[in-house]
Amino acid sequence: MTSAIDKMYTSMQAKLSRIVPDVELRYKAGIAVEINKLKVKRNAVILGHNYMEPALFHSIPDFTGDSLDLSRKAAETDKDVIVFCGVRFMAETAKILNPSKTVLLPAAKAGCSLAESITAADVIALKAKFPGVPVVTYVNTYADVKAESDICCTSSNAAAVVASLHAETVIFLPDEYLAKNVARETGKHIIFPSIHPPVKEAQGEDGNGELDYQLIGWRGRCEVHEKFTVGDIETVRAQFPDVVILAHPECSPEVTTAADFSGSTNAMIRYVQQSKAPHYLLLTECAMGDNVAAANPEKDMLRLCMVRCPHMNMITMEDTRDALKFNRYIIEVPEHIRVRAQRAVERMIQIG
Ligand code: SF4
Repeated sequence: MTSAIDKMYTSMQAKLSRIVPDVELRYKAGIAVEINKLKVKRNAVILGHNYMEPALFHSIPDFTGDSLDLSRKAAETDKDVIVFCGVRFMAETAKILNPSKTVLLPAAKAGCSLAESITAADVIALKAKFPGVPVVTYVNTYADVKAESDICCTSSNAAAVVASLHAETVIFLPDEYLAKNVARETGKHIIFPSIHPPVKEAQGEDGNGELDYQLIGWRGRCEVHEKFTVGDIETVRAQFPDVVILAHPECSPEVTTAADFSGSTNAMIRYVQQSKAPHYLLLTECAMGDNVAAANPEKDMLRLCMVRCPHMNMITMEDTRDALKFNRYIIEVPEHIRVRAQRAVERMIQIG
């Protein structure tokens, strides 16, 4: 009789045999079976971000996707427990939308350089400096920063969210490169004002005092996407002249311009599915290249795995199992922050 582990191994092997050696698939199939039993026992749902390693991504999540997809799934679930295979700000967003449910993050320290780049006090200072200007924050922020915002956005809907405000000027936080890419896409002029110490008058980005800005940014960076360079693109193109290069909008504008396409993780996945090129290279967390390769076996994916997200890579199958087993690490958001953050997140979800 075929055991549950054999069945899991066969299903993982069907997707991953070209990407993950059998010895690892067999080991992880055993853990996946344990996780699935615990999932039923705890009445849990597992959400898996596109950056999860391939064996995890293709075995245990009930839903996979980008931050926006997973926020939607978190908002819709009727399960008692949500296990977020992603980073802390994502699990916090699930808690913001589901206050009565237990939300677990498998690795307590899975953070994000963007989320850590800005505090609620920084947003309050910016609002004092630019009174009445609406605040858009990227979902890659912590709950207290979302609470100070009018609306959230993800990389897939950033330009649409800015447009939805019909405002002459918008504060757009905290990713410098995403803001610059949105400014370029929408033809807006962006400044990066200092709030330390506060100054009375807004200065142009070059310090020339021009006031013709429409976006007010912050100099947060994704420690992964900021590392890709135009030099990397040129070197890869020299070796693979027919490669199609896709860059995440958290990469610098120089990199997104030099690439063939720029879009969110889901937009990149769709681009690969719908096009036919001899080789593809995704300038984003390397695990996503594996996951896209597994879903598109006829397509040849190159990877630049010298650049990794240390936070996403903290989420392992062992820790996911232990999260369910030991009910850890529970995400809490103080209610007075949660209700204000919820408004900003739900407004974003309505825009889509
Ligand atoms: S890839 Fe960048 S934005 Fe995403 S979690 Fe890692 S550090 Fe944060």
